[in-house]
Amino acid sequence: MNPVSEIITIGDELLIGQTIDTNSAWIGEKMSMIGLPVKRIISISDNPDEIRTFLADSMQRADVVLITGGLGPTNDDRTKTTLAEFFKAELVEDETVLEDILHLLKLRNFPLSALNRAQALVPDNCRVVHNPQGTAPGMWWDKDGTVVVSMPGVPFEMKAIMETSVLPWLQDQFKTPIILHKTIMTIGLGESNLASMLEDWEKALPSNFTLAYLPSPGMVKVRISGTGDSEDVLKSTMAGLTESLVEIAKDYFYGFDDISLEELVGHLLTKNHLSLSTAESCTGGNIARLVTRIPGSSAYFKGSIVAYANEIKMKYLDVSQKMLSEYGAVSRNVVEQMAKSCLLHFKTDFSIATSGIAGPDGGSIFKPVGTTWIAIASKNGILSQCFQFGEHRERNVVKASQTALNMLRIEILKETIST
Ligand code: AMP
Ligand code: MG
Repeated sequence: MNPVSEIITIGDELLIGQTIDTNSAWIGEKMSMIGLPVKRIISISDNPDEIRTFLADSMQRADVVLITGGLGPTNDDRTKTTLAEFFKAELVEDETVLEDILHLLKLRNFPLSALNRAQALVPDNCRVVHNPQGTAPGMWWDKDGTVVVSMPGVPFEMKAIMETSVLPWLQDQFKTPIILHKTIMTIGLGESNLASMLEDWEKALPSNFTLAYLPSPGMVKVRISGTGDSEDVLKSTMAGLTESLVEIAKDYFYGFDDISLEELVGHLLTKNHLSLSTAESCTGGNIARLVTRIPGSSAYFKGSIVAYANEIKMKYLDVSQKMLSEYGAVSRNVVEQMAKSCLLHFKTDFSIATSGIAGPDGGSIFKPVGTTWIAIASKNGILSQCFQFGEHRERNVVKASQTALNMLRIEILKETIST
């Protein structure tokens, strides 16, 4: 039987909806990558009885139990004392941990309080795991064939402990098979259509490879996973599989390994010394926000006009009253004019314009909620297209933004290849 792991997250805040358990998601991903897949995740309160009961239960099934939370210095955090009792240990002051604490406090200019000092107390039968980011150390036990690790709940402290100690120690101890993942990013085709397209390809997969679909509004990530003993063999099989998958889905493929469209577009604009501006109606500046999330975007992004009201479209983007009454704000004519004027006023190489009915109101028989026009302008002309994104306001904005960035990506590629 291949080794498996379980996660126990501890904290009342997780159960009353105050804190979302992001620790488990992160740990789950890391553990699957080192071949110790997580089979169960539970969240429990800061209650010693429950901590004991659930830990004993997990230890019966799992080879590794990872615990986060409840290691703070205050009274509401009960994990350390409970675990000490559970593993029949005495709490003793650890010199190295105390030094770490003093060092950290000095950096922050805080005096050593009794509560801080208590964090240097560790159970005398655990392996102490250094916390590079905080005052509460991790604790590692190897008991009756199960590794139990307790870590603080603060996400960046937990991650630092996992990365610097726990993950390498686990890999060393369990000698797990190698697992490789490759994520292929697609946009423009729904999950089921993509799955039909890849059906034959998936059927022909070697038995040590699997495929997973991870949809989100407007896009689908496809993840290929392979398990084996030889990294070289896995890597070359993975490269071949990736290439053949991308070939089949090439009209929808845009990148690898969780790269976002705004990041990819940023690379393309930077590489080709091109600039961008946006004129946004229904996306309300969301495209500008996405683009400026990327560090270094000031090199290519000039700015945006959020032209939500018709009067702003007229005043700043040269949309005429005649155009509005003849075609309506959500029309090819208006969105193309918006893109053209944006390009001109911002003096950029590319511009994006959006105009749509995000909903829930404002739809009609001819233009139902979700109708969205997107235009991309450049010195070579204007490309515009109408989409039907559906009825959900928030998803409409996300889909319109993603689609616009994808249209821009394709246009940049076309123009930079042809010149
Ligand atoms: P603790 O180690 O219990 O003192 O946790 C410290 C802080 O980490 C708490 O204020 C929580 O907001 C946060 N935290 C605890 N557990 C989790 C978790 N599973 N996911 C994300 N954040 C957490
Ligand atoms: Mg807590």
